[in-house]
Amino acid sequence: MNQINKKMKITVLVISCIIFIIIGLIISLIYNQNSQKTKISLQTLNTTKTVIQNQQNQTVFDTILSTCPTQSEIKEFNNYFPITSDIPLKDYKCSNGLNPNYSENDSDNLDPRLTIYNSLRIMKAMHFREKLPWTEKNTYDWFKEKIKGININSKTNISFCCNPKQIINLKLDVLQNKDKKEWVKRQTGTGMMHLLLLEIHEARHIDILHTCGYKDHNLNEMGAWAVQYYLGQYIATELPNNCQNQYERDITLSSSEEIKKTRFCDYN
Ligand SMILES: [Zn+2]
Repeated sequence: MNQINKKMKITVLVISCIIFIIIGLIISLIYNQNSQKTKISLQTLNTTKTVIQNQQNQTVFDTILSTCPTQSEIKEFNNYFPITSDIPLKDYKCSNGLNPNYSENDSDNLDPRLTIYNSLRIMKAMHFREKLPWTEKNTYDWFKEKIKGININSKTNISFCCNPKQIINLKLDVLQNKDKKEWVKRQTGTGMMHLLLLEIHEARHIDILHTCGYKDHNLNEMGAWAVQYYLGQYIATELPNNCQNQYERDITLSSSEEIKKTRFCDYN
């Protein structure tokens, strides 16, 4: 009888030990899973924080240039400014502001259509504190009223207007150049800002041609060079600060001053 009792005690002891071990294993498993989850959610939190910080540091114009136009933007642009081209264009696609059909290699150029779309997106996003000197409208609405289409021209030496009527011809090389991925490129001072000024300059020719050779006489005529000069001044000084950085404002202002000095016959 004693022996049976002893055996039972041992069995109970062994079973208890096994149960303890199993409980211990389950507890450690749950703890590990939870700490893993905490690690993952901490990582997610940090990644989200970094993305938000990057978005906060990125200017409004940089954000536009690193993203793709929406379907409704493309529909609107194609409606108001149908794009034609004298060379065949590859299929339109867009990922992170680039057409992968054009950007397979580092040496590739930009899709000229995407450059035009992005210039129009920025033009539409420009809301100046002061009214422009040559129109009651904002820049985009004024451009929309004047221009009936944009032709990508691979044969011309310079961009021009207005043949056909109300159509501006933009030089292919200018549209394809990779500097148009930046509002103002830090190393060169070139970039999308200059294309936008060029578009407005050409659109002004619908109403006024140059009055002194390729120059104009003075700012008061409010011709294409005056409009380009004033728009540069407004971009540099009349936009909210988050649109561009200080370097970009400085370059825009100095290139505008350069136009005042070099593009008017009566300038003293
Ligand atoms: Zn001109």
